Amino acid sequence: MTTFHNHIPISHFSQWFTHWTSLNNLMIAGPCSAESYTQLRSTILMMTSQPLWNVLRLGIWKPRSRPGGFDGNIEALQWIKELKQEFDFKCAVEVATPEHVDLALEAKVDVLWIGARTVGLPFAVDDLANAIAGLDIPVLIKNPLSPDVNLWAGAVERFLAKKVNKLAIVHRGYSWPYSQKLRNWPMWSTVAQMKIFFPDITVLGDPSHIAGDVNLVQRMSTEALSFGCDGLMIETHPDPVNALSDAAQQIPLSMMPQFLQQCKKPTTKNTHSEINYWRMHIDEIDQQVVHLLKKRDEVTEKIALTKKDQQLQVVDYHRFETMLNLRKEWFQAGLGDEQYIEQVFNLLHERSIQRQLNILTKSEDH
Ligand code: PEP
Ligand code: MN
Repeated sequence: MTTFHNHIPISHFSQWFTHWTSLNNLMIAGPCSAESYTQLRSTILMMTSQPLWNVLRLGIWKPRSRPGGFDGNIEALQWIKELKQEFDFKCAVEVATPEHVDLALEAKVDVLWIGARTVGLPFAVDDLANAIAGLDIPVLIKNPLSPDVNLWAGAVERFLAKKVNKLAIVHRGYSWPYSQKLRNWPMWSTVAQMKIFFPDITVLGDPSHIAGDVNLVQRMSTEALSFGCDGLMIETHPDPVNALSDAAQQIPLSMMPQFLQQCKKPTTKNTHSEINYWRMHIDEIDQQVVHLLKKRDEVTEKIALTKKDQQLQVVDYHRFETMLNLRKEWFQAGLGDEQYIEQVFNLLHERSIQRQLNILTKSEDH
């Protein structure tokens, strides 16, 4: 693990503002996208009533993976200005270019965040760090789309190099082709690694983008807080079904008091020790192994159906031998390891044969 030196101290979120609601966690919530004045107003009314959470989030420039969807509404800048005259609240907006930074500051936005699609682009991050240098505004840095810790750490370093030190990282999960239940797969070991690089940095979880499904957001929030996050970033909408982006994952605004009530933080946290990091890493690797084993089962089923269709025998001995040799090459197996690879793939092959035989005999019954 690389350790970085000569950093300026990172300021904890409790030091970011002089007027700061007395909540222990940094809770950020609001719509995926700002869609209307009334939507924002009702969200601010809810947020400030108790107070329920510290910062309103709202997307104004939406980086859509595919063109053609709703990509934000810059009228929201005017809505913020007006609402700031009526209410005392702090808000956070995603910025992807220096122009966004200028416009957001002009609208008195209090916190900026860098989205997952931008964090992976070092030149874009440099441009943003240059634009934000000297402004003394907090910046939240989401993880990039792929689990590359150096890319994520590099973004933090690019800001530190410009003496921007009100920084937090946000875990929103990673793109994962085998994911079935979650939209973006969390890998908390990468967050633990970031904490080893930057011990003082504030850590937030984004259970909305991890889950992608409103029914899973509470569970992912609990997971984030149990891990040791200092707070959460949550998407909420007065009428999620009709939301213009991320409709499936936004919590109905009226449910927010109940939702936040259930977001309990454990009293002790112990996540930064070396052993916990490696254990988390093993869990994540095994999670991937299990997913891949399931995927393998699915493919053997397809092979069985093809064999049945073409009336081929189940086992091709020559194929198994070449297959095994190839896997040994991939592993770069030395003398002791050859046996290990053989054992693993004999077991996998045996399961594959059994499954294929099952499928073939079952279909013969009909
Ligand atoms: C968002 O917060 O609405 C967003 C676009 O998130 P991400 O950058 O994590 O995809
Ligand atoms: Mn969103």
